[in-house]
Amino acid sequence: MHLKRVKVVTDALDANATIARANRHDFDQASVTVINLMSSPGAGKTLLLERTLDEFDGPRVGVLEGDVQGSFDADRLARLHVPVTQINTDSGFGGECHLDANMVRSAIPSLPLNEIDLLIIENVGNLVCPAEFRVGEDMRVMVSSVTEGEDKPLKYPLMFRTCDLVLINKIDLLPHLDYDLDAFLHNLDLVHPDVPRMLVSARTGEGIEAWRDWLKHLPTHASALPVAATL
Ligand code: MG
Ligand code: ZN
Repeated sequence: MHLKRVKVVTDALDANATIARANRHDFDQASVTVINLMSSPGAGKTLLLERTLDEFDGPRVGVLEGDVQGSFDADRLARLHVPVTQINTDSGFGGECHLDANMVRSAIPSLPLNEIDLLIIENVGNLVCPAEFRVGEDMRVMVSSVTEGEDKPLKYPLMFRTCDLVLINKIDLLPHLDYDLDAFLHNLDLVHPDVPRMLVSARTGEGIEAWRDWLKHLPTHASALPVAATL
């Protein structure tokens, strides 16, 4: 039983990787760079995107919003005149707590790929399985908020190891918390040495300009980026 179970999981991840490559091919063909934005629930991804995309003068951005149910976050982002597409994992995908390549593939016909240069996929809030499923992204960005504690890189190493940038959010709360930022950065370096990191507050706007600059300076032609490694 144990061996069989492992084989099933392996096959599922192999199938996911194949579909992720097909997604990546479609995004490359349309010259759309894709970011997979991941975090635990409540780390502030949606507020961060609201701050980031409000009067953004960088590449043309679209958002693919992943949630188990509802369109609360998509509705918030749609106010910014950014094209937003919603995936609900409970309709047809069994309420999965992550996006996988097949779910993103099902959304591709609804994405305005000819009208955008950058697609930000807001994954379902979860620090575990989103890390296991490539969806065809070029870059993975993680939001880790200071209310979550310093130990998270050690508890969820795959998530922290497979991302290309870590945004440390809610830094406006640091004076009110016992959070030890140096300890967090030390733990981060233990699992992913020297991964780029930025300190931000989506609430106050601190650090958001540096993150917006990072987005503006992403290679505009997706195929110029290294192909994401298969897990
Ligand atoms: Mg959200
Ligand atoms: Zn999941």
